[in-house]
Amino acid sequence: MAYDDNNIFAKILRGEIPCNKIYEDEFVLSFYDINPQKKIHALVIPKGRYIDLDDFNLNASDQEIVGLMKGITNVSKKLGISSIHGKGYRALANISDHGGQEVPHLHFHLFGGEKVGKMVS
Ligand code: AMP
Repeated sequence: MAYDDNNIFAKILRGEIPCNKIYEDEFVLSFYDINPQKKIHALVIPKGRYIDLDDFNLNASDQEIVGLMKGITNVSKKLGISSIHGKGYRALANISDHGGQEVPHLHFHLFGGEKVGKMVS
């Protein structure tokens, strides 16, 4: 499957659609999920054109991979939910069909601000 440049997160990255921005650096953009499932529900996306985590891990540069991992913690720190600065959170990536992925641009959900509950329902 080829990357779809018309997916909603690609449009957000190009500035064609607004987002409620939390954090941005060279490698990632983070914004609040439009349909929050927990008290805090943030999304962290790489700036590169990657469909999902497997596409990313196979094709992104080491710098991009490190950038995304560190970006997640920069966001959790900024939101006050990191294990060091808060009470923790859940980072989750849905991957393709069986993973329930709806938007075909890699994203990590960060759920926090309250107990998140069971891992899979
Ligand atoms: P997934 O099912 O993992 O692909 O999750 C996609 C997520 O993107 C869902 O939680 C949606 O609520 C969220 N979403 C869709 N459109 C937007 C948008 N324009 N701004 C922020 N979040 C969005």
